[in-house]
Amino acid sequence: MNKKKLAAAVADRLKNKYPDALCSLFYEGDPWRLLVMGRLSAQCTDERVNVVCKDLFEKFPDVYAMAEAEQDEIAKYIFSCGLYNSKARDLKGMSQRIVTEYGGKVPDNMEDLLTLPGVGRKIANLILGDIFNKPAVVADTHCIRISARIGLCGDGKPLSPEKTEKALSAIVEPSEQAALCHRFVMFGREVCCARSPHCSECILSDICENRIDT
Ligand code: SF4
Repeated sequence: MNKKKLAAAVADRLKNKYPDALCSLFYEGDPWRLLVMGRLSAQCTDERVNVVCKDLFEKFPDVYAMAEAEQDEIAKYIFSCGLYNSKARDLKGMSQRIVTEYGGKVPDNMEDLLTLPGVGRKIANLILGDIFNKPAVVADTHCIRISARIGLCGDGKPLSPEKTEKALSAIVEPSEQAALCHRFVMFGREVCCARSPHCSECILSDICENRIDT
């Protein structure tokens, strides 16, 4: 099966299995909150970020409040997410830049998003896909691992985030890209787990090029 057909089959089956391709960060439709939560999720679980952000957003409810906050004060709220000093610096910095350069609104394009402190392609793609409904591949750990195992990109070995993003962008239907990445997260937690994938119960086992336990 060529890569585009394989990608279409994978997207189709995962859509059937997970009809609601929802982001596991509870950002309540607010682009700035998703940006903040995306930054906090580095080396931290989405569950932890959701818990931490309840108090964080109560204290700093919008981009203006965060832009004016003291870095040390932000750090106190996000301590349990790890890397709290650099994350606090980025949250303040990105909020300040959004206020001063973008009129308080999160930019809707990759180039501008990448100028925000702490924002790399993964977070930028999350914003583009979830907020602005643009084609966007979020190459996180699940996406990288699963797409390599299935044979969508690489030779069974995970590629870099940039190479994974580029490879999937070329073979996955633009309208399906963002949702597929959310489905990879759900599928990666339940079935195609990092250490012990459940290949015998997998709906992709007949088309996966690198199934492990069957
Ligand atoms: S067959 Fe195994 S390795 Fe392949 S996608 Fe399914 S769980 Fe992952």
